[in-house]
Amino acid sequence: MTPENPSLFSQIPATDRLLRDPAFTSLIDHAGHSQVVTVVRQLQAEARAAIREQGELPAWGADWAQAVAGRLSAEAQSPLRPVFNLTGTVLHTNLGRAIQAEAAVAAVSQVMRAPVTLEYSLDDAGRGHRDRGLADLLCRLTGAEDACIVNNNAAAVLLMLAATANGKEVVVSRGELVEIGGAFRIPDVMRQAGCTLHEVGTTNRTHPRDYRAAISERTGLLMKVHTSNYSVEGFTKAVDEAELAAIGQEQGIPVVADLGSGSLVDLSQYGLPKEPMPQALIASGVSLVSFSGDKLLGGPQAGIIVGKRELIAKLQQHPLKRALRADKMTLAALEATLRLYLHPEKLRQSLPTLRLLTRERDDIHAQGERLLTAFQVHYPAFTVRLENCLSQIGSGSLPVDRLPSHALTFTPNDGRGATLDALAQGWRRLERPILGRIYDGRLWLDLRCLEDEAQFMESVLK
Ligand SMILES: *Cc1c(COP(=O)(O)O)cnc(C)c1O
Repeated sequence: MTPENPSLFSQIPATDRLLRDPAFTSLIDHAGHSQVVTVVRQLQAEARAAIREQGELPAWGADWAQAVAGRLSAEAQSPLRPVFNLTGTVLHTNLGRAIQAEAAVAAVSQVMRAPVTLEYSLDDAGRGHRDRGLADLLCRLTGAEDACIVNNNAAAVLLMLAATANGKEVVVSRGELVEIGGAFRIPDVMRQAGCTLHEVGTTNRTHPRDYRAAISERTGLLMKVHTSNYSVEGFTKAVDEAELAAIGQEQGIPVVADLGSGSLVDLSQYGLPKEPMPQALIASGVSLVSFSGDKLLGGPQAGIIVGKRELIAKLQQHPLKRALRADKMTLAALEATLRLYLHPEKLRQSLPTLRLLTRERDDIHAQGERLLTAFQVHYPAFTVRLENCLSQIGSGSLPVDRLPSHALTFTPNDGRGATLDALAQGWRRLERPILGRIYDGRLWLDLRCLEDEAQFMESVLK
């Protein structure tokens, strides 16, 4: 224990004195009296603790105005900071997945500023239904009879199960009992929805006869889960949605499919790996299909369920729908995003997710060449190269497929990992942080998602 030195305590300035100091006037103007006083009291307490524990004033104790200013600006940093996503993962869950189309951004700001007809029908001046407008659009795009929108696809799965199979058995292939990440595991969601899981088949092979044998008077649903975040290869067999829909029809049992990502356009036309489309499942007779708003669809976080009218009506009337419903901002962004699909010829320009996923390699390479020299000059401690790399779609989509791309890579001339970490850390501390990926002794900046090149150059080279 360091002996306490009472004269040190007297060096902690009193609040009143600090607030009268001219250096504090602009801080108070800017952040307001209460915030400044709160920070001053915090710092005084820290100073007292430092004297008690270390026997000295903290280093910042020499300039209180600067210490308060620093603390205020750190506190003013939003936890939702825009970053440059050069990780190579386009739909990065930790970075908020899909970036929104300009049309969606405009639609959201419009509904934020004024009251809107969210649940109000102008035709009969009565209460409308908040998913109505979107449902019509979704029916047009998917061929479904009706639709329901909730907070995310995890919520969609929970609602589908709770509203259609509570107290009953749900038949699922063992190979589809997936964990999507975090606490979302199909068996757990079943339990939460009050359903009993009836697994059929084996991890690698499930046959139509397995489903048929499982069906009894207790069966409420047959379910397909798209195994989007992993793939099983080799000796495998799954029953596809169309086959399962036929079994469901023959036995009079609804069939639901959790598609996960799902794409409303055929991605193979853009040279991307094919992803199942909700409209194809609806056409093959699946009763309900759910998918995410912010994965390949490229819209806001939302869970979209399309399917048969009577089943959607059950979902809409279920008490969980009230708890899981989407707000007007989500609905506005989703509507604007879906409208872009009505003009598919322009989708590659209008929808950022698709624009980034389909960026031409040559275009990315040309961008790399524009940036390369400036970075070589600015980072003499590193060997900076333009290298081939592979981007990922992300968000559990198409896990085995990679998109050829180009990256600026930084190899430390001293060969030390610490030098690399320091570079990455410096970039994370920028006003608009730059996020890359450390791999194979180099820091990689995959340029696929770099659209704002001028701002990027300015923030990194200044
Ligand atoms: C991503 C995913 C979910 C969860 O969707 P969120 O919109 O993230 O809630 C559920 N099921 C599958 C198969 C998924 O891929």
